[in-house]
Amino acid sequence: MKKQRIDYGSLKSKIGNVEITTGAVLESTGSTSKTKTGAWRSLKPVVDEQKCIGCGMCWTYCPEGCIEKSEKKFKVNFDYCKGCGICSNECPVKAITMVMEEK
Ligand code: SF4
Ligand code: SF4
Repeated sequence: MKKQRIDYGSLKSKIGNVEITTGAVLESTGSTSKTKTGAWRSLKPVVDEQKCIGCGMCWTYCPEGCIEKSEKKFKVNFDYCKGCGICSNECPVKAITMVMEEK
């Protein structure tokens, strides 16, 4: 029996107007801010403002740069948050809980 090969390079789809490949690789540079990667999320970070001490660790570690500082509090921009959970893991007072996204 002949082995079938999958041509992964041809498996492409689109988010908005941006074409993505298998593994969600963005091929065009400088397009991150135009792609609302929040649609990829299955878990969502929820900040308990009572517990938050405003240290900024979540802002420092977020790989998407989607945590924004407003006065003393830090807010997630859900248009770009991928739900990786790094902010929740790094928060020293455990103020961020990852909850299942409801869409
Ligand atoms: S879950 Fe990940 S992408 Fe979303 S705000 Fe936290 S660190 Fe950033
Ligand atoms: S890491 Fe936790 S305590 Fe620090 S700013 Fe973020 S949510 Fe607040």
